[in-house]
Amino acid sequence: MTEFELIERYFRRPTRNAVLGVGDDAALIAPSPGFEIAATVDMLLEGRHFFAGAEAEALGHKTLAVNLSDLAAMGAMPRWALLALALPSVDEGWLAAFARGFFALADAHGVDLVGGDTTRGPRNLCVTVLGEVPAGKALRRSGAKGGDSIWVSGTLGDAALAIAHRLGRIRLEGADLADCERTLARPAPRVALGLALRGIASAVIDVSDGLVGDLGHVLDASRIGATIDIDALPRSSAMAAQLAGAQRDVALQCLLAGGDDYELVFTALPSRRDAVAAAAASAGVAVTRIGRIEAGSALRFVDRDGTAVDSAFAAFDHFLS
Ligand code: ADP
Ligand code: MG
Repeated sequence: MTEFELIERYFRRPTRNAVLGVGDDAALIAPSPGFEIAATVDMLLEGRHFFAGAEAEALGHKTLAVNLSDLAAMGAMPRWALLALALPSVDEGWLAAFARGFFALADAHGVDLVGGDTTRGPRNLCVTVLGEVPAGKALRRSGAKGGDSIWVSGTLGDAALAIAHRLGRIRLEGADLADCERTLARPAPRVALGLALRGIASAVIDVSDGLVGDLGHVLDASRIGATIDIDALPRSSAMAAQLAGAQRDVALQCLLAGGDDYELVFTALPSRRDAVAAAAASAGVAVTRIGRIEAGSALRFVDRDGTAVDSAFAAFDHFLS
């Protein structure tokens, strides 16, 4: 099969939102009047971001999902995607499954694949997404203010638990293993929540590298500090079981510093609590208040009694990545 037959068979689809999609030298898109374009790109490299032999359909999902998560964190509506693929060989079974996973998520979000690039090489999956946000309304990392509440969607650390399991650092079984593997393979980008938080959240980031690192980016951009209540961090039943077990330290690192969560961490005035709850309900996502923005520049941890918790674990720099 030639490169062009491959593109035609697996990646050329009728578009809903584009003036011109796959097939010419460039796609043509027309942004809605009064909107800004949010643009982001993320690369998934075999052996670095996913295990060799990872299921193709899940990769199709994840390579788009991680990009949609970035748009969610900007409060942008996803509209268009471009897909750059390096593949070691033409494996039609792999391509069909990859395209299924990719387009299922694209269709769920009304995203058009409008172009890309295809080449032979070590497996590398690179997606660019473009979204729209009303001019001046994008959610940024830089708006957190002293006194704001800090919130997080979903639960933290489950994907990192799945990786820790594969690396033999912990042992997961049964439903816990299946749940964590599913979170790792098929993260759910919080697009609806990001859109609903426009006008409510003062700062937003998506957690791709772990809570400590990513909240740290918000604090840096906002020039402010924070205190997090470790006992308040939302956890799955798998995480709760690991935290109660022999490998508590590994589980705690996953909870605080594990990557691949793709949840949203955001800040909002305490008086917006009901608005935050309504946004979460409209998006069908649970959100949990986990701490407070405070003067200074430090990220501190306390337990439910307000006692300071040693944060040495936070110094581990993405040990799982
Ligand atoms: P060019 O040589 O102009 O870069 P290509 O031969 O790379 O064009 O691609 C031909 C067309 O197919 C272009 O419209 C390009 O955007 C599209 N395309 C290439 N690879 C992909 C892909 N993996 N997914 C979607 N569209 C693709
Ligand atoms: Mg090209």
